[in-house]
Amino acid sequence: MGELTESGVVDAVGKELFIGGKWVPSSGGRTFAVEDPATGRVLCEVADASPEDGKAALDAAVAAQADWAKTAPRERSEILRRAYELLNSRVDELALLMTLEMGKPLAEAKGEVAYAAEFFRWFAEEAVRIDGGYQVAPNGSGRFLVTKQPVGPCLLITPWNFPMAMGGRKIGPAIAAGCTMVIKPAEQTPLSMLALAAILTEAGLPAGVLNVVTTSDPGGVMEPMIKDGRARKLSFTGSTAVGRKLLEQCADKVLRTSMELGGNAPFLVFDDADLDAAVEGAMQAKMRNIGEACTAANRFYVQRGVADEFARRLTERMSALPLGRGTEPGVVVGPLIDSDAVAKVTELVADATSRGAKVLTGGTTVDGPGNFYQATVLTEVPRDARMASEEIFGPVAPISVFDDEDEAVAAANDTEYGLVSYVYTNDLKRALRVSEALEAGMIGLNQGIVSNPAAPFGGVKQSGLGREGGTVGIDEFLETKYIAVSL
Ligand code: NAP
Repeated sequence: MGELTESGVVDAVGKELFIGGKWVPSSGGRTFAVEDPATGRVLCEVADASPEDGKAALDAAVAAQADWAKTAPRERSEILRRAYELLNSRVDELALLMTLEMGKPLAEAKGEVAYAAEFFRWFAEEAVRIDGGYQVAPNGSGRFLVTKQPVGPCLLITPWNFPMAMGGRKIGPAIAAGCTMVIKPAEQTPLSMLALAAILTEAGLPAGVLNVVTTSDPGGVMEPMIKDGRARKLSFTGSTAVGRKLLEQCADKVLRTSMELGGNAPFLVFDDADLDAAVEGAMQAKMRNIGEACTAANRFYVQRGVADEFARRLTERMSALPLGRGTEPGVVVGPLIDSDAVAKVTELVADATSRGAKVLTGGTTVDGPGNFYQATVLTEVPRDARMASEEIFGPVAPISVFDDEDEAVAAANDTEYGLVSYVYTNDLKRALRVSEALEAGMIGLNQGIVSNPAAPFGGVKQSGLGREGGTVGIDEFLETKYIAVSL
């Protein structure tokens, strides 16, 4: 590609459904619009799949499964490795595309393309390490052979907030394990996934292994596929509310499920913490992705001795963040995904202030066009404020004060969610004690970012089921088969 232009990167992407290795229009030729959340401008139209198109995509995945399962692990590994290299060679255009459809600052979009690429590198390495076992039975007379096989055709559903990485985290291990798949990206950000499908094809992925359906009717298209019975697994990343509904649907044919759901991360700062590091970590945990991350720090609990100073320093940092369109140099606070997101943040801030919270900076929307909300710090946020139990999904940092460790842990655990918790302390015993007591699948111990393709990502309680990434990530796409051997 020559010089990058906004229209150039949008024009370069396939806008049709990707089924059986071919780009095809939706039945009836329907399309829906993809918008730039920073301007409200329509970027392009993409195919709007019907339930029949979904069935055609599942047919293609089912037809490709048997041959794909027989491929050599090394062959699958090399496709993944090529995808990693291709993604890294096209960071600039893919990042611009992502910023246009999702709004995140260009620097973060580049980071996400690199992060997505890392899943392909990691699972290229994992594809050739699928293990098994040979064991003498306890009575000594028989033998146990244990082997792992692909679960079969998978349905993958991803959210808009990390439009490429959340796909890579599922597609990478599915390819490594030998599964075929149908993926449905979020309606607001289909372009990154369509671009990824083209890259995987260029990397050598055979027709039918990956099928992409874009649709404005997610329930109408996915439910028949889930209940069809031929797909053997659903891997979903999105809200807990939709996850619950999908779990019910999966019960019908007893599908394997992986659920990466919502979060409400507490961020604990103890009196003995390194305050510079805590403020730095708070900025990362809060402002990555404009606060629109399942891992976003949603509640800051700060011990009384450092609370005022922490709030002062965080306010200083937050109030200095440049706000604007993600394509502009230096911008950190891009637009939220849509006007509903701005309305939700506005409502949550109004609720907190009506209960006594004080605004230290921000606290308002920004005149349009675009869906902007100012970086905001609130203090004296009471425990019964709605934001203590709901995901904010925006650039708002609510601070509450605590006096002792038990109080902090109880407040942190007082949520239906359990994805990630952050802890800042320099006391080793406290660090381990609190890490063990927190009900979360992941702990950021003196660090504000936990995501890493080589680590097991996932939540407890209503934040989900299963883990993505790490050495366990591939197991989510494998069945264990035991062969009882009589000698
Ligand atoms: P969402 O509304 O649950 O949507 C997620 C995906 O599900 C989208 O592709 C959506 O399609 C689809 N969907 C919606 N209703 C459906 C239905 N009835 N049947 C099948 N699919 C359906 O979540 P979101 O607003 O996109 O994403 C934000 C949420 O994701 C937050 O709660 C966040 O915490 C969570 N998240 C979790 C993780 C994690 O790893 N735990 C990572 C990222 C995000 P449409 O786009 O067409 O609505």
